[in-house]
Amino acid sequence: MAETPAGTADGVDPEALGFDPAALRERYRAERDRRIRPDGSKQYRRTTGEFGYYVDDPYAEPVPDREPLDDRVEVAIIGGGFGGLVAGARLRQAGVRDIRVIEKAGDFGGTWYWNRYPGIHCDIESYIYLPLLEEVGHVPRMKYAPGEEIRQHARAIGRQFDLYRDVCFRTEVTELRWDEAACEWTLRTDRGDRMRARYVVVSSGPFSRPKLPGIPGIETFRGHTFHTSRWDYEYTGGDADGGLHKLADKRVAVVGTGATAIQCVPHLGRDAQHLYVFQRTPSSVDVRDNRPTDPEWAGALMPGWQRRRRDNFLAQVAGGGADEDMVSDRWTTSARLLQSLMPSSGGEELSPEQRGRVAELAELADFKKMNEIRARVDAVVEDRATAEALKPWYRYMCKRPTFSDTYLPTFNRANVTLVDTAGRGVERITEGALVAGGVEYEVDCVIFATGFDLGGPPAERAGLDVRGRGGVTLAESWKDGPKTLHGFYSHGFPNFFHLGSLQNAVSVNFAHVLDEQAVHIAEVVAEAHKRQARYIEPTAEAEAAWVATIRDKARNTHAFLAECTPGYYNNEGNPGKRSESYGGGPIEFYELIKRWRTDGDMGDALKRTTPPKEGER
Ligand code: NDP
Repeated sequence: MAETPAGTADGVDPEALGFDPAALRERYRAERDRRIRPDGSKQYRRTTGEFGYYVDDPYAEPVPDREPLDDRVEVAIIGGGFGGLVAGARLRQAGVRDIRVIEKAGDFGGTWYWNRYPGIHCDIESYIYLPLLEEVGHVPRMKYAPGEEIRQHARAIGRQFDLYRDVCFRTEVTELRWDEAACEWTLRTDRGDRMRARYVVVSSGPFSRPKLPGIPGIETFRGHTFHTSRWDYEYTGGDADGGLHKLADKRVAVVGTGATAIQCVPHLGRDAQHLYVFQRTPSSVDVRDNRPTDPEWAGALMPGWQRRRRDNFLAQVAGGGADEDMVSDRWTTSARLLQSLMPSSGGEELSPEQRGRVAELAELADFKKMNEIRARVDAVVEDRATAEALKPWYRYMCKRPTFSDTYLPTFNRANVTLVDTAGRGVERITEGALVAGGVEYEVDCVIFATGFDLGGPPAERAGLDVRGRGGVTLAESWKDGPKTLHGFYSHGFPNFFHLGSLQNAVSVNFAHVLDEQAVHIAEVVAEAHKRQARYIEPTAEAEAAWVATIRDKARNTHAFLAECTPGYYNNEGNPGKRSESYGGGPIEFYELIKRWRTDGDMGDALKRTTPPKEGER
């Protein structure tokens, strides 16, 4: 066996490290094994049919009547969240005048429209998360902005870039067909519209379809119930700042302890008569340390500040670090801790032996970080058994890390009970109770903080029937797996763009990811116009080469994810053979697509049949 930092014959010396890696590894494996279920992602219930009421819009005014549209736009954008908004904004900046956003909600905002639960905040620093801050002229009031400010910012982008002018809210696209002769798409909607569009951008968002747990008897519950992404303030009272006064005489159950629950549980604990938190797997909960924006700092910001700050954050969390840490929060300090323990620290050349040990040292750094997270639980939570149950036993990036200074102390309240289900989940739901570990907990209300259905490619997830050239559906074309060039477009589906996380690079600041993608799409469309190209479509060869690149680069993530406790990061313990993300990471990916735009390869994707007719632009 190769020597390790605290080298002994056996690998590492637990005394020198202060912990025993072999014991931790074993513990992580045992925790994963007790959580693995044979039904994997099939365990969840869809919010359709008898559960369709879970996704009714509690915020929108009644649908105003309008005549079905039968018209033509240059660009149709499906989805009015940050993806659709930044696509619209960047296309406007590129000179496209005729843009229509089609959105099923009653306003812009996407995930920030739907999620208005108490305590909702951005978990990435708002100065780098909220897109287009300089363009809109806004500096967030807090380091981590509340959801309502973020939603208002989404609306401000809509106003700033004149996207309200031709928007269709409360409208769902049901079908998209490519018309080869006209070189454009025909879209049909649930409001009887028949729209034609030269370009279509789909940005339906990863968190657009809430899911319910597959708990036997869920349909029999007779009390009140809702999903966190459709918060029922009529029932709870209060608003996103809390003050849920109508719960003062209610016994409330929350199912789930992910990033959403971490934010709303403190409010429920404060206001409910009794709160039961049903936990299957604990989250890692790190320090939040939110604070108001310093007006002096905000006043001194120089043009280009947001891009510099965003890039700096990305370099910390997804690159090799940077000299300065502008954001300096637990995302960046955790990344630096992990990097500092890697053999590359100190800028020295890696020896061949060190290179062989990178994965091992990364694991040691990870153990150290998670020990810190577990020690925080011990320091905050008074009851020993509760503290033990709240400790996460898996690697840092197996699940979305969370941040809160109020979640853990909530379990010190007399009216709050953690119901730890030892990885098994809620056993059963009856007319008036939840059953776990054979114990029946009677409640008046069940709130599902059980996340979102991420299955399938974005267009399919959005329920879109997409038919490209020759009437071939996207599902047929992708029957052996998704096929794109750079994640944006597919052969056989001209002028059709995907925004999201498929076959490109992602990072924890998803709004940044979307903006980089929007910039790319806007530049490609602008170039197509310049060359009078009738359509944009990758060749089958370019697409196949990209799919092969995704395969080659992504190989080594499988082993990591397979060892992780189940969740949506690893498809509930079945990560598949390969990841569909670009393994070189976002910084390398942005460089790669920039080079593609500038060094001539883009030409192959831009096809011209006949010049556009007068007035077609
Ligand atoms: P998650 O999918 O992260 O969490 C779902 C929770 O429900 C998990 O704790 C899961 O347990 C639990 N669960 C599922 N089924 C059962 C069951 N049968 N019994 C008991 N528990 C069950 O959803 P969230 O809504 O919390 O978060 C989704 C994503 O939204 C986050 O990962 C994050 O990316 C994003 N988000 C972002 C925020 C931001 O500020 N930017 C804020 C909030 C969310 P288990 O872990 O065992 O599967």
